[in-house]
Amino acid sequence: MQDLYGHLISYLRVSITDRCNERCVYCMPQELQEWMPRSEILTYEELVRIIRVGASLGVTKLRVTGGEPLTRQGVLEFFALVREIPGIRDIGISTNGSLLSRPVPEKGGLTMAECLRSYGVRTVNVSLDTLDRATYARTTGRDYLPQTLAGIDAARVAGFGPNEIKVNCVLMRGRNEEQLVPLIEYARENALILRFIELMPVSTTDVLSDGNFLPIAEAKRRIEAHYGGLIPAPHFKTNGPASYYQLPGSEQKIGFIGAMTNLHFCENCNKLRLTCEGKLRPCLGSFLEFDIREPLRAGATDEELRRVFLDVVARKPKQHDFRDNYQPNRRMVAIGG
Ligand code: SAM
Ligand code: SF4
Repeated sequence: MQDLYGHLISYLRVSITDRCNERCVYCMPQELQEWMPRSEILTYEELVRIIRVGASLGVTKLRVTGGEPLTRQGVLEFFALVREIPGIRDIGISTNGSLLSRPVPEKGGLTMAECLRSYGVRTVNVSLDTLDRATYARTTGRDYLPQTLAGIDAARVAGFGPNEIKVNCVLMRGRNEEQLVPLIEYARENALILRFIELMPVSTTDVLSDGNFLPIAEAKRRIEAHYGGLIPAPHFKTNGPASYYQLPGSEQKIGFIGAMTNLHFCENCNKLRLTCEGKLRPCLGSFLEFDIREPLRAGATDEELRRVFLDVVARKPKQHDFRDNYQPNRRMVAIGG
């Protein structure tokens, strides 16, 4: 699948739930905390059918997200189905990490991380904005820092290697600008890839107030004041839009995801998103979304579903609208970050 701007679409980000066990300030605004009715949420069979259709059109990489994907019942069986889909070669998960170390009784007490690994998940992205417990609780609405750190340990113990665990930190002025160095040290000690992400107006525009927004450029300056000049690492690539740098005198890579201030952010986008209630979205920062659940539930053939994919790809915008006074129409938790 190729869009009008020559982007080859091979990556599908699939949200399997809008529910979450945390309440991050930037993702789930206080006034919008109702879950969707279950009947609206795609069943695992429906999700698998849509992914299969995507794979028949060239999707090779999948990232499962939410909400918090590990809160959905039966998630491991879902992965078992997904890894059988022909063409899907790379499966990742985005999680807040709080459930990764939990033993799964029906799997003989293996941890969730071990089960994910054994079900073919190759990469784990864990959100971690701070190592300060009080700030973590204030930002996520839950006092789960110890569980999240245990979750990252569990992922390492489960066999996820140095380039297979990424830690994502959303930058927020007044909350975590003093945490950049501690997070880098933590990532170094644990051989993790750390990425700093600019706040995006995905759930509410308030979140981007001058008081909150911490641009990548300032984060870089703060890091360089401590470590010296960062060395661009243009050949180091993961699947997303991060630009990587190397810390001087070290092999450690740090990524920056600057959706708001990096004007080249969209140039290599290869992604579509599927929301948990069956909307295909060509771009996180655009209102465009197309219902695939309705035709699916009405008995559409694979060919008809392929047409929906192709229509969505044909409408993929050149770039996101975040810089254009964008007014979000959904919570991030309901899009799938
Ligand atoms: N619950 C999982 C987690 O927290 O990683 C997966 C879903 S979450 C929506 C995916 C990613 O989106 C997280 O890394 C989160 O930090 C990021 N995110 C959520 N709201 C954001 C915002 N307003 N700006 C930037 N990133 C955001
Ligand atoms: Fe939940 Fe992840 Fe959103 Fe936080 S960022 S509220 S953990 S979905």
